Parts: sequence; structure tokens; C-alpha cells
Amino acid sequence: MDTNLPVSAQPRVLIVGCGFGGLKLAQDLADAPVQVVMVDRNNYHNFQPLLYQVATGALEPDSIAYPVRKIFAGQKNFFFRLANVTGVNPAANRLQTNLGDISYDYLVLATGSLTNFFGIESIEKNAMQIKSIPNALNLRSYIFQNFEQAILETDPARKQSLLNIVVVGGGPTGVEISGSLAEMRKHTLPKDYPELDLNKMQIYLVEAGPALLGPMSKASQDDAKHYLDELGVDVRLNTAMKRYEDGRAYYSDTEFIATDNMVWAAGVNGAALPGLPEAAITRNKRITVNLFNQVEGETNIFAIGDVANMVTPEMPKGLPMLAPVAQQQASHLADNLQRLLRGEKPKDFSYLDKGVMAIVSRNKAVVDLPKGIHFKGFLGWLSWLFIHLILLVGFRNKLVALVDWAFSYFSSGQALRLIIRPFNKYDVKDDLGKKAAEHAAATLEYNPTPSAVQQEPVR
Ligand SMILES: Cc1cc2nc3c(=O)[nH]c(=O)nc-3n(C[C@H](O)[C@H](O)[C@H](O)COP(=O)(O)OP(=O)(O)OC[C@H]3O[C@@H](n4cnc5c(N)ncnc54)[C@H](O)[C@@H]3O)c2cc1C
Repeated sequence: MDTNLPVSAQPRVLIVGCGFGGLKLAQDLADAPVQVVMVDRNNYHNFQPLLYQVATGALEPDSIAYPVRKIFAGQKNFFFRLANVTGVNPAANRLQTNLGDISYDYLVLATGSLTNFFGIESIEKNAMQIKSIPNALNLRSYIFQNFEQAILETDPARKQSLLNIVVVGGGPTGVEISGSLAEMRKHTLPKDYPELDLNKMQIYLVEAGPALLGPMSKASQDDAKHYLDELGVDVRLNTAMKRYEDGRAYYSDTEFIATDNMVWAAGVNGAALPGLPEAAITRNKRITVNLFNQVEGETNIFAIGDVANMVTPEMPKGLPMLAPVAQQQASHLADNLQRLLRGEKPKDFSYLDKGVMAIVSRNKAVVDLPKGIHFKGFLGWLSWLFIHLILLVGFRNKLVALVDWAFSYFSSGQALRLIIRPFNKYDVKDDLGKKAAEHAAATLEYNPTPSAVQQEPVR
């Protein structure tokens, strides 16, 4: 299949992924003398920090997604193709996709990350993840399906298992989702399910390390734990989840929590693509880049955002997987690409840390700013809402999110609790899960023959 891209006298910058990094890079190249081609497997930009709000019924999925073509309407040098990328052939300067090969002068990988199940098959098979909009809708539908099931259940042990929710991973996502579920238990569920004794519903947050919110300050870690304790979340620190089968979440060889609902938020791997030099891929599948975001061993391939492993003097373990890192690297790379085109030397990237925050529930959030400044509570919560509202793409999304949040705040409840994706986690994986599995298989099996690559149509 031909990708039908116009031939241009200008060099082509091919960007994989319209996440935080890819989106910013393509926007910053709007006036550059290049043809920008973007490929993504989704036709929308997904604002991942608010996924948990879709999963817990606080926001509609449409509020946190924005169509790629609408974002770039009017940008003359921009072309988009909806495609799944399967590999790179650096020797031929070609990207391999399910539509066929696309050639490039400069390739930028902004593919983000995939859930890391640490090789625990039973968890990968049976737990729910929260990396995509389909994941979030599955989670919401699945939990509400289990409440419906719990009403019918006469066996007390089965009923308990249907009500229990185990969230694994005490990072921001785990903290945010367990806090939000605890609020739902307090405000929303008693109105919807008066027949259920919701005092019996347990929400567990299981973390392998000694504290929640690992990279944040001690004050934020303690405050978040305190807030969750107040909300009645059973926080289990220093507890590693070992396996999850037959509705039992084992945290040792014999001890388990009975639950039909496990949310896995315990880690991610970089979404590196097959075909890159092996030496450039780290243990957690990120791509090693230099301070220009140039992939190790390559001259015209770059990686930004979550998939890029950039070590700086300030961050010897590599920059964190955060949206601002992706956006700042994107802007910097847009400048550097134009420098390269003018025959100038690229400049080193340096990360401007503007701070980190995590929300636990209404009026409760923790914020760490540079220079050791920490605040929390209502002010933290308000800052969190304000910043996320500003960052959402599109005026409509900002407005809808604001209305949904205001409704939830004043009605003390999540508005959106439709079961719209009847989902049996034991039977099917959602689309992204399937794609991730295909991607993983491609990573293992990819070994293109040069002749096969050369015969494909280009441009
Ligand atoms: C639940 C959750 C909560 C988060 N909360 C926060 C937060 O509060 N603050 C914060 O700073 N960060 C947060 N993050 C992290 C933040 O979302 C990431 O750091 C950021 O999205 C990274 O941007 P990126 O451009 O590298 O990748 P992404 O935004 O992940 O975008 C990657 C894009 O590449 C596409 N893609 C990937 N592989 C392929 C392929 N093979 N073919 C075609 N397309 C492909 C994907 O469809 C996607 O559009 C959160 C993440 C999650 C999952």
C-alpha cells in the first residue's frame, strides 16, 4: 500500500507519535523549511494525566482527547497518516508501517511507553492497565459490571471479591486512582447501589517500595499516605505483588487478597521500535540519546519524551517520564533540527524542572516545586485543577472538563458511570493491548531482509 505522501523539495521530518512530545515538535516546526509527516496508531492526542478521571467516571473520554487533524488544520507543511509503526530500517532511512514504508530525512521517535508487567504473565493476562482511553473505559465498565454482579451474588466471599479493588503501584497514577475510587465509594456508590453494603468494599493500594510517590519529597509522600488513610484506603507498603490468578492477588507465596478487580499501575517500559541499534536500547526498552536527543549510533534518528533515555549531569539516572520533559525536548529538538539544516552545531538540552504534583481527592493534593517548596491540601488541589485545565488541548475540552469537575464538586459525585464497553478481561484484550502484544512480538521477531525492504513503495 502506498502512503500517498506528496513529494517535496524540502527535507522530511518524520515523527512517530502524537503524544506530548510529537505534538509539540510538529507545532514548533510549523514555520520551518521542512515537510512534517506524523504517524500515530490513533487519530487523536491523548492527555494521559487525566486518564484515571475517565476510568473513575469524573470526565468523558472526549474531554481528554483531541483529533490530530483538527490540531494541525491550517499547518501547510504538516501531513498525518493513521498507521501502526512496526520498525525502522536506519540503513535505508525508512520507517516500516502497516501502510507500507515511509522514507525520511530525519526521524523522530516519540512513541512514549507501554505498561511493564515485569514478566508476570498472570498479572498481564488478568489485571487491568491504564495507558489508553480504551483501557480507562474498560476499567470503568468492568468495575461497574462487577457492582451489578455483586448485587446478584449470594455467596458472601464471592460478593466481597467482586467489591474489592486492588491497585498496584504507589506512584502518582496509583495514588490518584485509589483516592478517586475511595471518593466514589463514599459519595457516588451509596446512591447508585443502596442494596450493597459498601462498608465491606475494600480498596487496597499495594506498593513494593517503602513509600508512596517515590520521586517526590518526604513531605508529599507522608501527606499522600495520610490523605489515603483518611479516605479508608488500605495502603500496603513494602509489598510486592507476585501473581494474580483465580481472583486471588498473591503478595507472597501463600498470602493473597481476594479480588475481581486489579488495576496495574506499577511501571512502564519505553516503546522502542525494532530495527534500532541494540546497543542503544536500555533494559527498560528506552532509547539512549545524547544531549541533542540523537539516538546513540545514529545521525538522523532522534528520540524524545518517555521513550528517550537522556542522562544529564543533574539527572544521572535519566530524565523522568513526564509530560514537561517530552514537551521541552520537543521544542529544543525543533530548534536543533533547524540548526542542522543551516549547517550549525546543535545545542545541548537542559531540563527546566517546574515541579511535580499528585492529586488524591477533592481538596487534597500534594505539590513539590523547585527549591524544596512543598504545599498541599486545597491550594494544591486548586493548582492541580488549574494547570491540568490549561494544558488540555482545545477550548471545548477545557470547557467540558470544567463543567464536569464543577458538577462533581457541587454534587459530590462522579457523573459518568455508564457501562459502555461490556468487557470480560479474561476473554479479550483491548485494541491497544493487542497492538502492544503485536509490537512486543515484532520486537522479538523483526529481522527484515534488505530485498523485502527495498521492494516496498516509498513516499
Ligand atoms: C495514567 C497516567 C498518568 C500520568 N500523569 C502524569 C502527570 O500527572 N504529569 C506528568 O507530567 N506526566 C504524567 N504521565 C506521564 C505522561 O503522560 C508522559 O510522560 C507523556 O505522555 C510522554 O509523552 P510522549 O510524547 O513521550 O509519549 P505519549 O504521550 O505516550 O505519546 C506516544 C504516542 O505514540 C503513539 N505510538 C506509540 N507507539 C506507536 C506505534 N508503534 N505506531 C504508531 N503510533 C505509536 C501513541 O499512540 C501515542 O499517541 C502520566 C501517564 C499516565 C499513563
